[in-house]
Amino acid sequence: MTMFTKLAPVQIGVAQLSSNGQSNAGGSGKPEHARVVIVGSGPAGLTAAIYAARANLSPIVLGGYEAGGQLMTTSEIENYPGFPEGIGGPELMGLFRSQAERFGARILDVDVERVDFGSRPFRLWAAGVEYRADTVIVATGASALWLGIESETRLRGRGVSACATCDGFFFRDKEAAVVGGGDTALEEALYLTRFATRVQIVHRRDAFRASKIMIDRATENPKIDIHLNRTVAEVMGQDRVEALRLSRTDGPGEETLPIGGLFIAIGHRPNAGAFREWLPSDEKGYLTVEGETTASAIDGIFIAGDIHDHRYRQAITAAGEGARAAIDAERWLETAESVLDESATLAAVR
Ligand code: FAD
Ligand code: NAP
Repeated sequence: MTMFTKLAPVQIGVAQLSSNGQSNAGGSGKPEHARVVIVGSGPAGLTAAIYAARANLSPIVLGGYEAGGQLMTTSEIENYPGFPEGIGGPELMGLFRSQAERFGARILDVDVERVDFGSRPFRLWAAGVEYRADTVIVATGASALWLGIESETRLRGRGVSACATCDGFFFRDKEAAVVGGGDTALEEALYLTRFATRVQIVHRRDAFRASKIMIDRATENPKIDIHLNRTVAEVMGQDRVEALRLSRTDGPGEETLPIGGLFIAIGHRPNAGAFREWLPSDEKGYLTVEGETTASAIDGIFIAGDIHDHRYRQAITAAGEGARAAIDAERWLETAESVLDESATLAAVR
């Protein structure tokens, strides 16, 4: 059983504005209360919003400044069921959003800056407004790490990607390169051998960080070449990737590697900062769930999508977790209804 101590009331800021300049607190200065507050507006958050809204829970979605999530950065999604011809990322996320709004979800493109999950209702602060929630679904996703060079940013979506499962198919009969020396990089490289004519792995050190079995698989694969002690100095090409300019890390020297696609596989960062103080995470910083549901360690807080799942990292799996989290929240509310009292210090009811 988890006991919570109620904290002192918090002063509310005066801004009360969402990112589109609309008041999102009715200008009253009072905290907004919702049965369900969903944090994040990627596939997990918006699917949770569709389910919670259809269950008449009138969810508020604090969707973040990166509204729509990771798919907003990709032009073609071919593996999301229901779209046999494929669909653009922003278009797909626009449809998710319309569907959630149609059933009454209120979506605000603001980042949650901090939370207090120590008393009920739970409290969250975003853009100067305090939100109070009986249940919270955390669906803040994870962000791929990038090299941070100008040419990589310019050619993102034009041959530069961070997801071989998502984009590998587009590099059929071309040469592709993967940057990184961990398990993800080698796994991405092996996956790409299904489509690409050759796969070049570029790693900055003289030894891989990946597990031995993955190193063996990659080194034994006849379609893979390995370039150790090299970093990408420039992704060459105007409108699409044509080659890499590589610098050596063990001495002077540069070389050019012609390729058609570049996959960056140097890790992901879970967007868990606002919740760290309250919710447990694993050794990689991903929030953890308890048991077989989406329940977190705190009763009434649920977790969905890439913020928790670093194995599958797909839109369909994130959406599936969003649906599960909303159903878990709805069922939890049914059970907890009699004890949800703003003035009460509440013991766990799960
Ligand atoms: P995300 O999509 O990461 O969404 C997280 C949301 O949380 C965002 O709205 C963000 O603004 C919000 N957020 C973060 N922090 C805060 C905060 N503090 N307060 C409020 N909101 C916050 N998958 C496929 O299935 N098919 C594909 O073809 C495909 N292509 C991809 C291409 C690229 C380039 C990338 C990067 C990924 C691709 N993926 C694809 C993977 C897919 O995008 C992710 O698995 C999926 O988006 C995860 O959904 P999510 O809702 O968990 O998180
Ligand atoms: P990771 O283990 O942290 O590896 C990241 C790799 O990227 C490292 O080789 C690192 O180089 C390199 N790198 C980081 N920043 C870079 C930069 N700016 N420029 C160039 N290279 C850079 O991440 P991961 O591979 O995503 O794996 C994450 C976790 O998931 C690991 O625990 C891994 O075992 C696990 N995983 C397992 C499997 C599997 O078992 N099949 C598959 C995928 C992931 P250095 O080595 O020099 O630091």
